[in-house]
Amino acid sequence: MDQNTFSTFGARLTIDLDALCDNWRSLRARLSRGQCAAVVKADAYGLGAAQVAPALYRAGCRHFFVAHLNEGIALRPVLPVDATLYILHGIHPGAEAECLHHRLVPVLNSVPQIEAWQALALAGNQPLPAVLQVDTGMARLGLDAEDFARWVPAGLIGLDLHFVMSHLVSAEALHSPFNRLQLDRFRAMLTHLPGVRASLANSSGIFLGADYHFDLVRPGAALYGVAPVAGQTNPMRQVIHLQAKVLQTRSIAAGTPVGYSHTWTASRPSRIATVAVGYADGYLRSLSNRGAARVDGVSLPVIGNVSMDTLIIDITALPEGRIREGDLLDLADPTHGVDAVAAHAGTIAYEILTSLGQRYARHYVGGEAG
Ligand SMILES: *Cc1c(COP(=O)(O)O)cnc(C)c1O
Repeated sequence: MDQNTFSTFGARLTIDLDALCDNWRSLRARLSRGQCAAVVKADAYGLGAAQVAPALYRAGCRHFFVAHLNEGIALRPVLPVDATLYILHGIHPGAEAECLHHRLVPVLNSVPQIEAWQALALAGNQPLPAVLQVDTGMARLGLDAEDFARWVPAGLIGLDLHFVMSHLVSAEALHSPFNRLQLDRFRAMLTHLPGVRASLANSSGIFLGADYHFDLVRPGAALYGVAPVAGQTNPMRQVIHLQAKVLQTRSIAAGTPVGYSHTWTASRPSRIATVAVGYADGYLRSLSNRGAARVDGVSLPVIGNVSMDTLIIDITALPEGRIREGDLLDLADPTHGVDAVAAHAGTIAYEILTSLGQRYARHYVGGEAG
């Protein structure tokens, strides 16, 4: 993006596709067998599926997951034909032909979804590709134990079953006994489907060890730099760099209140900067009086309430004159990553990424080579 264009934006979101691909390769390197997919739902966690998915394809990824059928329809033309694109939500009633037409593979989550896909297979007189999801404890999507016992495997005629999958509830908690319980339940179900390949692990699940890897792992968050294991050093590279422009600076006297509802008041003479990012850019309002920007390695607190389009930073810690109108402050960078922002906001990094929105000047770097 040239400077001329950037001059019309308030902030820049740089997305490092080399770091993304390194993350994918390092996750794959943890597997002793099986393949490493990429979850690119929600526009690749807000970072741009049309850029992210082809970069991962060039790095060697051949299995991609989105949530909605329409996400799959949009992404299908962007990926070469030997990439498989799975729809986690399966198919809404009546959309089966559309799914088939676009060569998308549904994750079948319920008996009615299975039946509808089978009916289409029967009508076309050819088995149709599918993934079967079973519920091992999240109670969210997939056949429960009862439906499974009644339906599987006899009820799977007409399906070319690529994988049977389930999803972990708290894989980021390395020592949660629920991980093992889900693994045992999953294995018990798999004994009824001999020869069918299996998939259980999300990003965090990969770090639970080889027992959890099966034939395909489905990382999302870790690809985008989110820490996969709670309480441990993050082994992933940061993928985003968020920089926002200073709109104005001012010096205020001790006792001056700042921002909407005056939730912050200067306790000493202060220099402050108004920055062109707000909650409409995914810089959550819960970061009011809690977030931080960085300049020259110095952490500078967000003061007062975050507004829709602006936030205010206390820059008193920097030498006078260091920050001027038009300068860039870092709101997320390799040293202060998405997990740190999320911790300040009282949420998870997933929500920070997927909230970023469309107002940034987006700048993609790297991702060309294999
Ligand atoms: C979102 C999702 C993933 C990816 O999870 P991460 O924690 O982001 O790695 C994997 N599988 C399913 C079923 C999902 O919904």
